Amino acid sequence: MANPTVILKKQGEIVIEDCPIPEPKPGEVLLQMQDVGICGSDVHYWQHGRIGDFVVKAPMVLGHEASGVVSKVGEGVSNLKVGDRVAIEPGVPCHTCKNCKIGRYNLCPDMKFCSTPPVHGNLAKFYTHAADFCFKLPDNVSTEEGAFLEPLSVGVHACRRAGVSLGSRVLVCGAGPIGLVNLMTAKANGASEVCITDIDEKRLEMAKAVGADYTVLVKSRDGQEVARQIEEVMGQKPEITIECSGAPPSIQTAIYATESGGCVVLVGLGPADVTLPIVNASVREVDIRGIFRYVNCYPTALAMIASGKVNVKPLITHRFKLQDSVKAFETVAKGEGIKVMIHSKRKMDIK
Ligand code: NAD
Repeated sequence: MANPTVILKKQGEIVIEDCPIPEPKPGEVLLQMQDVGICGSDVHYWQHGRIGDFVVKAPMVLGHEASGVVSKVGEGVSNLKVGDRVAIEPGVPCHTCKNCKIGRYNLCPDMKFCSTPPVHGNLAKFYTHAADFCFKLPDNVSTEEGAFLEPLSVGVHACRRAGVSLGSRVLVCGAGPIGLVNLMTAKANGASEVCITDIDEKRLEMAKAVGADYTVLVKSRDGQEVARQIEEVMGQKPEITIECSGAPPSIQTAIYATESGGCVVLVGLGPADVTLPIVNASVREVDIRGIFRYVNCYPTALAMIASGKVNVKPLITHRFKLQDSVKAFETVAKGEGIKVMIHSKRKMDIK
């Protein structure tokens, strides 16, 4: 096949088909794809055919946590050349709306984001992308780490919105890939103590291995009870809570657990409507902030990896070839491991 491409034909059906190798338009580069991490959202589209208002109505190429090597440059591209290894920021905004102009392009209503219907993703051998949303990797950063910049950027954005800084006491709820990158980013930002929760003991073991100061295994659905447990373990309430599970009881815990005057950042996306202890948050002036993906975070995430401030390698637990993509999706669906990577590079190219 010239360009094997992993396509979600319809809910529940992933196929690998040969597609034409695309030509880069002006401002774009053609990339020979290297590594693509699987995100829970890709699996969700496969299993349920939709996330909220985003509905898979036509076949869609999956994948958005990716890196590649430039194999052709389109007209007018001056920041990249053939052979450059790059991380691909998957969302390309309109550049002209109010949010783009004020630097909050993640809120652009015309955002074209890979593998969010109807926009195709990049789980293929060849793919074209806007050159200004490709970030050249230095020699000491692998293409797997380049693909990891995508979830890591979610951690960078959440920690920025939360105001994590030197000496912060932070609670992270949920120790999936997103919770773990938030833990790592908070530590890299100078947080003095990070406590992380989960209902799964194995995930907490990984959290400890990558730097959690405290872990709490959640066994109760009573948010106040879990908050008391957290306070006992940490010795005092956290100033900042970053909620990364989306589970309603955990969002309730996040509010109860946070110190008065503190901040809760909601990263996890669960049910659309959730009952919250809103009076508790109000009378204690606990700010509640949402985040949507990331904005201007790739350069920071890349600098964190290149400088060694953050090491995401232990989070990569499974690797599959492009041809075995269905197995890779099944692995994520079973909740095995943390980050599952699919690679289409030849062995000799692996860095
Ligand atoms: P994941 O499902 O792998 O991880 C969620 C973790 O939360 C799991 O380990 C699970 O065991 C744990 N959990 C479930 N119930 C819990 C509870 N009551 N208390 C504590 N932990 C509990 O998912 P992920 O890939 O790590 O993503 C996490 C969330 O972040 C998802 O909801 C995802 O949709 C969301 N997300 C949001 C954005 C955004 O822009 N806001 C970006 C990426 C991901």
